[in-house]
Amino acid sequence: MWKRIVESLFRENMDIQQRLLNLILSSAFVGGTCSLIVTIAIGGYSSAVVTAVLLIVVLISLYLSVICNRITAAAVLITGMANLFIFPWMYFNSGGMNSGMPIWFVLGLIFTWLTLKGRICYVMYALNLVALIGSILVGNNHPEWFKPMPDGYMIGDIIQTIVAVSAIIGIIFKYQTYVYEKQRIKIMEQDEQLQIANDAKSQFLANMSHEIRTPINGIIGMNTLVLEELDEGNMENIAEYAKNVSSASQMLLSIINDILDISKIESGKMELVPVEYEVFSVLNDCYNMALTRAESKGLELKIDIDSKVPSILYGDEVRIRQVINNFLSNAVKYTHMGEVTLRVKEDSRQQEMVYLDFEIEDTGIGIRDEDKEKLFQNFTRLDEKKNRNIEGTGLGLSLTKKLVSLMGGDIKVFSEYGKGSRFTVSLAQKIINNEPIGDFQKRYREFVNQRNESEISIYIPDARILVVDDVDMNIRVVKGLLKRTQALVDSAISGEECIAKIYDSQYDIILLDHMMPGMDGIETYSKMKENGDHKNVDTPVIVLTANAIVGAKEMYLDKGFTDYLSKPVRYRELIEMLLKYLPKDLIRENKEKGSSNDKVINDTATKKNADSIESIEGGGDIMGKEIEMRFPMLDTDIGMGYCMNDEEFFIEMIQTYVDSDKRESLAEAFNTEDWKLYENYVHSIKSNSLNIGGVTLSEHAKALEYAAKDGNYEYIKEHHNDFIREYSDMIEKLADALNI
Ligand code: ADP
Repeated sequence: MWKRIVESLFRENMDIQQRLLNLILSSAFVGGTCSLIVTIAIGGYSSAVVTAVLLIVVLISLYLSVICNRITAAAVLITGMANLFIFPWMYFNSGGMNSGMPIWFVLGLIFTWLTLKGRICYVMYALNLVALIGSILVGNNHPEWFKPMPDGYMIGDIIQTIVAVSAIIGIIFKYQTYVYEKQRIKIMEQDEQLQIANDAKSQFLANMSHEIRTPINGIIGMNTLVLEELDEGNMENIAEYAKNVSSASQMLLSIINDILDISKIESGKMELVPVEYEVFSVLNDCYNMALTRAESKGLELKIDIDSKVPSILYGDEVRIRQVINNFLSNAVKYTHMGEVTLRVKEDSRQQEMVYLDFEIEDTGIGIRDEDKEKLFQNFTRLDEKKNRNIEGTGLGLSLTKKLVSLMGGDIKVFSEYGKGSRFTVSLAQKIINNEPIGDFQKRYREFVNQRNESEISIYIPDARILVVDDVDMNIRVVKGLLKRTQALVDSAISGEECIAKIYDSQYDIILLDHMMPGMDGIETYSKMKENGDHKNVDTPVIVLTANAIVGAKEMYLDKGFTDYLSKPVRYRELIEMLLKYLPKDLIRENKEKGSSNDKVINDTATKKNADSIESIEGGGDIMGKEIEMRFPMLDTDIGMGYCMNDEEFFIEMIQTYVDSDKRESLAEAFNTEDWKLYENYVHSIKSNSLNIGGVTLSEHAKALEYAAKDGNYEYIKEHHNDFIREYSDMIEKLADALNI
């Protein structure tokens, strides 16, 4: 209760004058009560009545000041009452000039100065002065008007008055000094914060101008080059410069968007737009966006979604995508080797809300402990020197943090420098449809298969394509994938045969495998370049490789290859490559609706499409289920995906896989310790197994291939027998399944 009384008397938002008035009134109340007790004790009953009246006036003034906030009225009441009535009365009734009264007079006048301001202060001071001086003068002329006092009273009264008045004045000064000191410290702190905010604003402006100037300079520079090239008419260069202009503009736009978002949030103008959204679609899109970038860096992008997560939620879908995309893009940017994982876990539920943890983990460069708090500051980039080649503005995480806070969420960072980082975003979302999202991987594969099937399809009956690969199955894969395009696909099973063929025929594109026994892809390519007297000097050569390692693409491009396609070859990527490099006049029609020439393709595609959609909806999944049951040793979603969901083609691939059994050759390479050859065999088992959905076997082959490459023969010796057993088991089971 005392705390509440003190708080209401001295609230920080009251001005100092009001607080002083309250202090004076409350101490007058305490002092007056004590004085009343003492006066009654020493028998001064008439004084006791006056003191009691004074106490009542004090209480009324306190009421006016604290409750009604009428400070001037309270101050006029108390100073007027004391100086005009009570003090003159006390002067004649408690001893006059020989008592403590002159000291009270002084205190009364000081109170007037302390508690009133403006004109009323001077008026009251003058009135009070007149009353008090008048009392002294009247007392001087009429000593008979003084009430006689008992012996010893004067001494006691003077001592009591000195103690009380000095204590009151002391407390007032102390309090005033305390308030001023507190205000001074507060002002200093505010000044400091203002300075910091000002510095941050200047820094922000400087950084922003710098960041914006970089892409603008790029755009201006590239545009100048385009204008220069226009005279020369070099379209290839112009296209290259235009591409740079486009990427610099994109970068500029993304900086400006981030800045706008940040300032919108900071000024409180950013509003969330909650909608119903499908969790699968959000995660699928985020995963796909990051996948291309991860793959081009040779990183593995994993996704692990809790199958219990509800399928439809309510929240700001756009901002949620923005947050996940930003973390994923950072994870890919700051990881040079290894993997990036997107995890979504359900933490808990409360009525219609679900609490989700989105986790993005990488095996990248990591963050030092002391840098963690800087992560979320505007324009702050860590390890600037080391990361100077990585594009970025230092705005992403700052914006992300603000967005997550706006959504009522929370971000946590766990990281070990040099090992990797894990960011966790906890968000609560309203559940719209409680049905669980289910097996994300499976749904994703179905989605990819369907997309591969439906999105692009071309008709190139006049295109001549040469596929060079020592493994028959790989040639069949490419031929199978291109069957519907009606391209003329020729093949060569070695570098030597390829060289012979380029003298005989002219091709529009050559797909050349890297890893081949004898003359490998790189040697074959340099031979092609050395001898300029054949028919394919200008033919684009695309290298086929299962080496999805960091820098592989750059290495091939450095060697002069036109482009790079990773194995197992995917239909969509292959078609995109053809669209990019085939002469445009060979591409008769692409899959635009309503054209007549591509009718066959369209019909087939529509049928396939329908099959895939049916299979997603669950009703017509019989075919997929049959295949799955027939080949339980394979991940048929993956295998079928590589075979355009064409069951016939898939079975043909499995047959080719079984026919190209490499057990004997592998055993011989192992026994003769011909590790180069061994590497070659496990390399092709790796990609062929993956092609039909033999994921684990492919992984084990990959481990052996890397061991052979690194000269780790001990590892091979230790694992070879197990691998042969696993491989035999696969071939035998597949052969049995094929005979059913
Ligand atoms: P930027 O545009 O520079 O990537 P961000 O605000 O997204 O800006 O990130 C700020 C800084 O935090 C980055 O410059 C980088 O130094 C560091 N950082 C962000 N994510 C990671 C990560 N996954 N691993 C290591 N460092 C990271």
